[in-house]
Amino acid sequence: MRELPSSPYIAGAWAVGDGDLFDVLNPATGEVLATVAGAGERDLESALAAASDALPTWSRTAPRVRGEVLRRAFELMHERAEELATLMTLEMGKTLADARAEVGYAAEFFRWFAEEAPRIGGELRTAPSGGNRILTLRKPVGVCLLVTPWNFPAAMATRKIGPALAAGCTVVLKPAEDTPLTALYLAGLLAEAGAPPGVVNVLPTAQPGPLVAAALADERVRKLSFTGSTAVGRLLLAQAAPRVLRCSMELGGNAPFIVLEDADLDTAVDGAMLAKMRNGGQACTAANRFLVRAEVAEEFTAKLTDRMAALRLGPGSDEATGLGPMVNRRAVERITKLVDDVVAGGAKIHLGATPAAGPGFFYPATVLTGSSQASTLATEEVFGPVAAIYPVASDEEIVARANATEYGLTGYLYTRDLARGLRIGEQLEIGMIGLNRGLVSDPAAPFGGVRQSGLGREGGFEGIEEYLETSYIATSW
Ligand code: NAD
Repeated sequence: MRELPSSPYIAGAWAVGDGDLFDVLNPATGEVLATVAGAGERDLESALAAASDALPTWSRTAPRVRGEVLRRAFELMHERAEELATLMTLEMGKTLADARAEVGYAAEFFRWFAEEAPRIGGELRTAPSGGNRILTLRKPVGVCLLVTPWNFPAAMATRKIGPALAAGCTVVLKPAEDTPLTALYLAGLLAEAGAPPGVVNVLPTAQPGPLVAAALADERVRKLSFTGSTAVGRLLLAQAAPRVLRCSMELGGNAPFIVLEDADLDTAVDGAMLAKMRNGGQACTAANRFLVRAEVAEEFTAKLTDRMAALRLGPGSDEATGLGPMVNRRAVERITKLVDDVVAGGAKIHLGATPAAGPGFFYPATVLTGSSQASTLATEEVFGPVAAIYPVASDEEIVARANATEYGLTGYLYTRDLARGLRIGEQLEIGMIGLNRGLVSDPAAPFGGVRQSGLGREGGFEGIEEYLETSYIATSW
């Protein structure tokens, strides 16, 4: 692989970085993949200055031209798909198949918002009294701070950069410390696609707290779009409060995966493999609790265990690998504890449950039954390749259990009876439901959660709204 950028990207150039150096590890080996020059206070100042200097021109650039930059970025991502997929696999551990799928998914946000840029509208209404006209205008919010997680290092960035640029905003992106290289790669690609200097700036750092806090306190920043854990999301909402910043929050989930007794179990297991094991289980949308009607729980468990057992554990860069490493050592330690706790409490192990020996950060595909629904494994995000199955006796119990969480991002429901599926689906306090589908992510759909899973939507027609303000002119003629 050619040498890739590893320092802050500010005002159209690679900066030296006035923060601390930090290492990015390859989770398959535990070895250093790259040493990155972190951004410090001066870099933040330069990036905010660049983004606010670029704003007047970019926001007045013709929507078609803004769209064409995004369209070109979409094309470049496809031209470079293999290089970018390989980089994500090395940096974050996901299998090459997952990485290639993410490149396609991530690029699609550039294409979708390239098409949305020329469709930003306004309205002319007549006041109910008939006395005046109401002219509504849509304007870009301004400079946006984008903070992204490591699990989908390309897609979580493009899902924000796409609509922001389409709307006429400029951005400062702060990627996760485990995966800054993918974000820096995208910065170079956007420049090549024609994004003018200052429109996209990227600040890697291993000390996100002070940098993000300083950015949120800066009057040039008008919006925060965050994807990450609910805990950090809460903290940033509080930091955004003094300046009453616009906030979009894509936070954690605790997805129920519901299987009714009339479901086609083979289709349900196909869906379960996707919903649970995509990205090694490290997805906010990942199935977290398998709520299975007792009549079919044993058969579903056996089928799922067979499929999980067939996944080959290994480096994501090996084409035969079905399950790559976890992102870092802390993730392995965390999931080991979640599983050990329920096993000590009497859960039955059908598969896995023992961390693999190093080097690298591996945890095997695991299937458990008999764990308590009050356990941390059930109440927190598992964020790994562990499926815990809970038999349930009735549809009423399913709805009650599915909703017994502070989260409300994703859910899955398998049944042959569409009306019954929709009836249950309507009662779930969840932003996105897969009905006989194990995947809900789609650039054309409004992605987002309710309750403590977030605020706002990304993708779809809704996605660009997050980066637009409405103002109106009252007029008479
Ligand atoms: P995280 O919350 O630890 O980190 C997310 C981002 O916040 C990173 O860029 C990190 O550097 C930054 N950050 C961490 N602490 C901070 C602080 N004190 N101040 C400012 N910034 C800080 O989450 P993660 O481990 O990177 O990602 C996993 C989480 O993200 C899971 O909870 C997952 O559900 C969630 N997620 C949600 C979605 C969604 O669309 N709803 C998508 C992907 C991931």
